[in-house]
Amino acid sequence: MEPLGTTPPVTDRLARPLEDLRISVTDRCNLRCRYCMPRELFGPDHAFLERDDLLSFEELERVVAAFVDLGVSKLRVTGGEPLLRRDLPELIAKLAALDGVEDIALTTNGVLLPRMADELVDAGVDRVTISLDALDDATFRAMADTPLSVAAVIEGVEAAKAAGLRPVKVNTVVQYGVNDHQIEDLAAWARDTGVTIRFIEFMDVGTTNGWLRDRVVPADEVLARIASRWPVDPVDGEVAHGDADGGFAPQAVNRDGQRVQVAERYRYRDGAGEVGVIASVTRPFCRTCVRARISAIGELYTCLFAAEGHDLRSLVRAGGTQEQLSAAIADVWRGRSDRASELRSEGGLTGPRVEMSYIGG
Ligand code: SAM
Ligand code: SF4
Ligand code: SF4
Repeated sequence: MEPLGTTPPVTDRLARPLEDLRISVTDRCNLRCRYCMPRELFGPDHAFLERDDLLSFEELERVVAAFVDLGVSKLRVTGGEPLLRRDLPELIAKLAALDGVEDIALTTNGVLLPRMADELVDAGVDRVTISLDALDDATFRAMADTPLSVAAVIEGVEAAKAAGLRPVKVNTVVQYGVNDHQIEDLAAWARDTGVTIRFIEFMDVGTTNGWLRDRVVPADEVLARIASRWPVDPVDGEVAHGDADGGFAPQAVNRDGQRVQVAERYRYRDGAGEVGVIASVTRPFCRTCVRARISAIGELYTCLFAAEGHDLRSLVRAGGTQEQLSAAIADVWRGRSDRASELRSEGGLTGPRVEMSYIGG
């Protein structure tokens, strides 16, 4: 499909450009992390999306091309568990072939990577982020509500490395009393394994994960604990790119006038690589948020904490042109003023909001 390349760059009401896109390809998952898909609510009776409702690969290709036409160059494929989407490498290959796509990343729990990593890389995946919240089996099993062991995820990490993905990143969501005792062990493991680990503050995404502010381990505390064992220096002169998978709007500052970025990166002084923290709750970075998300059924979300999305699938299925699709996306983006994390009160967010497993983390 030829890019149109004719639409001028689009910015929202806070002057944030549209730069990166997260694509949820399924709302299903093979784990049941308590903070994301608690089994009581995502059990056998849960109504997952029907296959016909999902955007087909051809439809997804069209929607993504419309985003690319508006200036998006970085894509992240997520879910639910994206590796559960049948024939995922086929989709990756289609997206990689779009003119203007510079980077395709994948966020996964890693369990299916040993059988898929090579194929995914061949199809065009550039980077992978694997989620791992604990190194001891008891904590991992309790958090992910699974009989699997940590080894299943570690095999995924190894498969990603063997497939040539560099650097492999690992995300850890930290909660007091749940896995905060794992911080140093995880950091030590990441240093030894040569992966970059980023510790993420537990967020009140969705309304089903029992979020409590008291459970949030501030990024500063995580960093202080790590740095007391292995001294670090901030990585400066370089703007972290969210996950580094966010983006960074020029001159982005928070309400205290400090420069903010998604992943705050630090380099170990002894040369053992980098570690990052993502202070989504204690140092929100909405001013820099240049990310759009689409659900598996083609709804555009302009914020992780949005109550509802904007339907793009109807336009695609009604035979809308690429110009019409881009125009619809641009209209939504121009009206965007989201900054939920900056507005969060001590008690957390209130009101309806989409679940993380639906919109994609
Ligand atoms: N299943 C894949 C995985 O786990 O990597 C991709 C989807 S998952 C929703 C994406 C990321 O969101 C994971 O790293 C997960 O730990 C994170 N996540 C889910 N719920 C969260 C929460 N309440 N606060 C912070 N991060 C969360
Ligand atoms: Fe599944 Fe990822 Fe959510 Fe865990 S965090 S339940 S692996 S979608
Ligand atoms: Fe972006 Fe919304 Fe998160 Fe703020 S709260 S960083 S606007 S997704």
